[in-house]
Amino acid sequence: MLQDQTRNSANLAAPDSVCVLGAGIVGVSCALELQRQGFQVTLIDRSEAVIETSYGNAGVLATSSVLPMNNARLWKSVLPMLLGRSPSLRYQASYLLRNSRWLARFMANANQASDSHRVAALNSLVRQSMTLHQRWLQQAGCEQRLRTTGWLKLYSTQNSFEAAAYERRLLTTAGVDMQILSCEELHQLEPGLQQTYHCATWIKDTASVDNPAQVALAYRQLFIDAGGQFRVADVHRVKHSSLGFELCTFDAQLNCEKLVIALGPWSNDLLSQLDCKLPMAYERGYHQHFSTSAQQPLNRPIHDVDGSYVLTPMEQGYRLSSGVELKERDAPPSPVQLEAVIPNARRAFPLDHPLDQPWLGRRPTLPDALPAIGEVQHCPGLWLATGHHHIGFSTGPATGQLLAQLMSAKQADITAAPFSPNRFF
Ligand SMILES: Cc1cc2nc3c(=O)[nH]c(=O)nc-3n(C[C@H](O)[C@H](O)[C@H](O)COP(=O)(O)OP(=O)(O)OC[C@H]3O[C@@H](n4cnc5c(N)ncnc54)[C@H](O)[C@@H]3O)c2cc1C
Repeated sequence: MLQDQTRNSANLAAPDSVCVLGAGIVGVSCALELQRQGFQVTLIDRSEAVIETSYGNAGVLATSSVLPMNNARLWKSVLPMLLGRSPSLRYQASYLLRNSRWLARFMANANQASDSHRVAALNSLVRQSMTLHQRWLQQAGCEQRLRTTGWLKLYSTQNSFEAAAYERRLLTTAGVDMQILSCEELHQLEPGLQQTYHCATWIKDTASVDNPAQVALAYRQLFIDAGGQFRVADVHRVKHSSLGFELCTFDAQLNCEKLVIALGPWSNDLLSQLDCKLPMAYERGYHQHFSTSAQQPLNRPIHDVDGSYVLTPMEQGYRLSSGVELKERDAPPSPVQLEAVIPNARRAFPLDHPLDQPWLGRRPTLPDALPAIGEVQHCPGLWLATGHHHIGFSTGPATGQLLAQLMSAKQADITAAPFSPNRFF
């Protein structure tokens, strides 16, 4: 078990004690799977409620999001994006300049060879996560939160549909179940849509949930019910010794033999203290909930490719999510991108009143857009589960399973090598 100690006492971490820092979807999945492998796990988060990235995502378990944003096609669209012609990307030039090394490495991965390798790796995580999500939702008694109706990519023009041909080719190779719908077929499937689209791709084997935060909380409860410890604490300092790790919160010192960093966008705050800083950038994004007076609800999330938004029916209302903002992680919110896409979304579906203020989240992104999952070679006992950018909700459960299998030296269900954190050290 993890030990609370007075500040000057000896480090007495119990064998097999693991501390998982961060109780978003990734951390909670790690805690659950480590517990099931027999470790003594303490899960720690500074917040009792799920309020960060794992709260505010679009709730899509996206088999089709395995092609990272920095793919070979990006070279064709990057100029209009940089010129600010697309609401899908907004950036602060000074942030990009300060992170030019990250940017150069990010763009260096935008080639076909890298794309095939990364699609295969992410596909294995997404597929395994889908199975685990279904199993865990059932175990938690909230399978009703899962919608297995797929999701839709909507195209306003033949040009934008053709521009996605490369993506469709790779997704077909990955075994994604898709159907191209004409304008009429789209109308039959989703009669609530009031805009006329050129065509759509229906990704049929994608699922979605109506409240990602409640899903993460339900998984945390599974962990607690099985005897796991959850603590609310802001960990601001960490030290490593041959005996394990010493964690400092504002009023206590905690020791553990092994440490899992699953702090999403905040991972480097502690990793830098252990000389293990990752090359991480923050793809910020916003959402806002709206009421509707529509007669026909949406039956699945939609991604309007030309309108640059995702709209998901949620428990709280219709959640409108915007594109990517490359800016300092802690810069004040500036939801102009969200404001820009509200009229686009209203053309497609009758959104009435905003139900809350815009929410800001940060997607933690590594240069190859693969998460870091595994032990850090030069810091034995330090395990990472972070860097899940746009698809952490779709890949969290399998991340937890892979990490637990690696930590208990069991045969992993999926190939771990592409995710090794040591590719950065
Ligand atoms: C707008 C938007 C839409 C998205 N849509 C989707 C989608 O549809 N599908 C999908 O798969 N993914 C989506 N994502 C991405 C997904 O949400 C993330 O990849 C995922 O939530 C990351 O989870 P995490 O557990 O790594 O991080 P987080 O959920 O951010 O968790 C990190 C936790 O660390 C805690 N913490 C931080 N510092 C400390 C500290 N010092 N001490 C203790 N605790 C600390 C925080 O409180 C937080 O709970 C979206 C993201 C955004 C922003």
